[in-house]
Amino acid sequence: MTTLPAKLQAVLARIARAARQCGRDPADVRLLAVSKTWPVDVLRQAAAAGQRAFGESFVHEGVGKVAELRALGLEWHFIGALQSNKTRLIAESFDWVHSVDRLGVAQRLAAQRPASRPPLSLCLQVNVSGEATKRGVSLADAPALAHALVGLPALRLRGLMTLPAASDDWLEQRRAFRRLRELSEQLQADGLPLDTLSMGMSHDLEAAIAEGATLVRVGTAIFGERHRV
Ligand SMILES: *Cc1c(COP(=O)(O)O)cnc(C)c1O
Repeated sequence: MTTLPAKLQAVLARIARAARQCGRDPADVRLLAVSKTWPVDVLRQAAAAGQRAFGESFVHEGVGKVAELRALGLEWHFIGALQSNKTRLIAESFDWVHSVDRLGVAQRLAAQRPASRPPLSLCLQVNVSGEATKRGVSLADAPALAHALVGLPALRLRGLMTLPAASDDWLEQRRAFRRLRELSEQLQADGLPLDTLSMGMSHDLEAAIAEGATLVRVGTAIFGERHRV
């Protein structure tokens, strides 16, 4: 059986190889360990192996882990569906939110971010493949929403996030991620100071890095198959 530290190292090696293959500095691609459904003992193992940033999809589970592991000084990213009635817990506990796709929840996060905390880093989630079932703002509506988010207090718009339709086809993976990169370039040309492209998971991180990902969100390749969700 492969140990967690070995799987983590293997993912970091995949990231480095993918970056070098397209002439990028491996240090420009961060690894977010998606730890949803895994118990805190497993997160402790990953932290002991050097992993600092963790992604959670369920509010109560995530808030519990943040509290239990506070002494480790980890960085916490919320990547799941945003419900209006749970924004306060997220604003109080997390450092990043990747799944902002409407102004209302961002306004709530802005109002509820404790003054004692640094601004909450945000990514705008964009639905690049246009599937009705996927969350995220459409490519057409994203620029107006991005500009609106920049004006909110206690928040800092860092970039864009996407979760495209799963595909085993390299060119199709590249196409989806390219749409997010092109949108990011357009917004930067408009003057938005974005530094983050959150895209790529266990099965498609190489394609995402080839299209400019600065942060890949990886669960299964580090922790193994999840038994739920
Ligand atoms: C679960 C999840 C991931 C990780 O997916 P893996 O295939 O396990 O690497 C990444 N991003 C989001 C938004 C997720 O919900």
